[in-house]
Amino acid sequence: EPETHDAIVLGAGAAGMFCAAMAGQRGRRVLLIDHAGAPGRKILISGGGRCNFTNLGTAPDRFLSANRHFAKSALSRFGPQDFLALVDRHGIAWHEKTLGQLFCDGSAKQIVAMLMDECDRGGVEIALGQPIAAVEHADGMFRVTAGSRTARAPALVIATGGPSIPKLGATGFAYDLARRFGLKVVEPRPALVPLTLGPDEALFRELSGVSAPVVARCGKAAFAEAALFTHRGLSGPAILQVSSYWRHGEAIAVDFLPGAAPGWLTEAKRAQPRATLRSLLARTLPDRLAEALAERLALNGELANLRDGALAEAERRLTGWRFTPSGSEGFAKAEVTVGGISTAELSSQTMEARRVPGLFAIGEAVDVTGWLGGYNFQWAWASGWAAAQAL
Ligand code: FAD
Repeated sequence: EPETHDAIVLGAGAAGMFCAAMAGQRGRRVLLIDHAGAPGRKILISGGGRCNFTNLGTAPDRFLSANRHFAKSALSRFGPQDFLALVDRHGIAWHEKTLGQLFCDGSAKQIVAMLMDECDRGGVEIALGQPIAAVEHADGMFRVTAGSRTARAPALVIATGGPSIPKLGATGFAYDLARRFGLKVVEPRPALVPLTLGPDEALFRELSGVSAPVVARCGKAAFAEAALFTHRGLSGPAILQVSSYWRHGEAIAVDFLPGAAPGWLTEAKRAQPRATLRSLLARTLPDRLAEALAERLALNGELANLRDGALAEAERRLTGWRFTPSGSEGFAKAEVTVGGISTAELSSQTMEARRVPGLFAIGEAVDVTGWLGGYNFQWAWASGWAAAQAL
């Protein structure tokens, strides 16, 4: 006879651990299974090892999803302050880095230890290093065969994340499982990922390592953060952010003069006729970038000798420099995945599948993706919490 639990949670990542702990603390007997030998591997490497565990500015408009309303309920019932209260209860020191992003002062290990401790308090049974061999569903019970054991429960939570960074144990398992239960999956794409540039934009490759504050845009999305040139193309927070919105064939626009008033360049010509475009740009941009941009615009010599029309055109290009990425660095380098288990299949209150009672999906496996800056963990906590209340 297989062992019986109230709920089985697949995936001991951020969402799975938190959900299991919260359900356990509500008196549910929970089994948490992962194929990896250690829990929370993405947490450990997140935020450069300090885990950007939430964002104080959490709001539904900072998430991508086919249904932009879906995340509202869960986010409003378990917000950044709720997670922060837990972090404080565990005596973990933290700081706000920028833009509402909260990081551990010490190490991301503290967050994993905290979640393990919370699981312990909830009496959660944890089975690590257990590849999931089979999942069956009959008579209202889910039956999971993982490694050497078979367990059954009336509730099953899919918390195995998305396929970004396979070398950390990430898989498309959640999608395969969801499809087997007849749930739709919104096409997954790598997100928060560096973009690559083709040969015609190769000039910029010489700038590898140079970064600058910009506003990067893709469609209606705009992010005022740093952009970084790499030997393959573009990266840095502003670019990672727009990458989540970008689709093959589209251009992105980079404003190298954020905050400059319209007509800035022709004004500069009046005020400093002896200056060059390059020297002017170098006041706010790194030298190498200023040089490359001036070279591309082919505007050399003193501003006094350049026509106003040419300067206006240069300003137009500098405030909306178009790059047409040849691609992205893919799932191997993507911090998250956009797309996933369709929110149309799930209750936004409980994360339970409408068509399969007892089946839940939480975290990155679901078609809800946050911006860079702690939003993805906040979604993992909030969706995990919502499901835990219903288990
Ligand atoms: P995961 O944390 O990925 O957990 C899924 C679990 O399922 C894993 O333990 C995995 O081993 C297990 N699993 C997968 N497939 C199977 C299978 N077939 N069988 C059994 N188990 C399986 N977000 C932020 O908010 N802030 C940050 O600072 C941040 N930094 C990041 C840095 C990097 C380098 C990366 C890659 C991501 C970062 N993210 C960050 C994103 C964040 O890590 C994820 O959004 C979050 O971990 C998703 O939580 P999850 O529980 O849904 O999935």
